[in-house]
Amino acid sequence: MGETFIVWEWNAVNFATGYEVSTFPFYEDPGPGKRGEAVFSETTSVRVEGLPPDTGMAVIVRAVAETATGRVEGPWSNQSALLAHRRAHAVYTLRAEVLICSDERERAGNFSRLLVHEWDGTPFRVDMVDTFPDEAMPRIAERLLEPVEDLADRIEDQLGYRILEGGEVLPPPPGWPPTERQLSEWRCPPREPGQIQGLYVDRSVGGTDGSAWLPCVAFRYHPAAVTNGGLVNPGARTGYDAFVDGVTFHEIFHVLGFTHPEDVEMLSRGIGVPMSYPLRWTLYPDADSVFRQDIDALGCVFPHPDFPRE
Ligand SMILES: [Zn+2]
Repeated sequence: MGETFIVWEWNAVNFATGYEVSTFPFYEDPGPGKRGEAVFSETTSVRVEGLPPDTGMAVIVRAVAETATGRVEGPWSNQSALLAHRRAHAVYTLRAEVLICSDERERAGNFSRLLVHEWDGTPFRVDMVDTFPDEAMPRIAERLLEPVEDLADRIEDQLGYRILEGGEVLPPPPGWPPTERQLSEWRCPPREPGQIQGLYVDRSVGGTDGSAWLPCVAFRYHPAAVTNGGLVNPGARTGYDAFVDGVTFHEIFHVLGFTHPEDVEMLSRGIGVPMSYPLRWTLYPDADSVFRQDIDALGCVFPHPDFPRE
């Protein structure tokens, strides 16, 4: 994939003499018959040009065969699975790199105020508060901190300075776990300036696998992150262990002022910096869900005087 093109490959179908490929933004499927001209390919891959940058594209394929009695068309590849499995069935064009900063800092501050004000060039420290049930997940808090250090290095490699730092595993705050009532009116755990805290909360509080807890400059892992298998039993869901890292980055970027690219109403009011699609949907393992443009934009939110951008 690139900013305006994708290359898509699929498995061969017996007896097919060619394939038709249709591509459209998956949030706006106009429906059968209105998707525009399908592209014909004699091979099992196609390159589609002229697409909008930074857009999740659905790709559907059908086999066609020229026979003695005329043309036979197979069914379109399953698009009902598209929304349920968008990680597997959509591809993403890239966003142009943010070479010149515009309103990113203001946008981030409108979404997640505190860190933007606290930034003085000292990297923020991500600490993991050990509220995880220990029997099920020994030392999981340490495990979850490791990719934060990877991300911190990537940011430094790209921008020349650090914005994040992996911190420590901290004991649970006094009075933890909170009751249902305390949770609904839970005051923030004690926090030092420059600190971002990750915690486990044993009930779902917004979101599925995790959620950002902006007033507390914190983020939470939810039971779904555990019951889906990844934390307790890494083999339970293919790639889930890596995906949990993606959840960590996704939530940290929320705390840093980023929001979902499909939150168009909020974005149109100048609230939040849009995440890339890979970061939004935690598409890739390790730190690979964080794309160049996410880090470019992060540098605009947290600029450093020794590393000016034009
Ligand atoms: Zn989110």
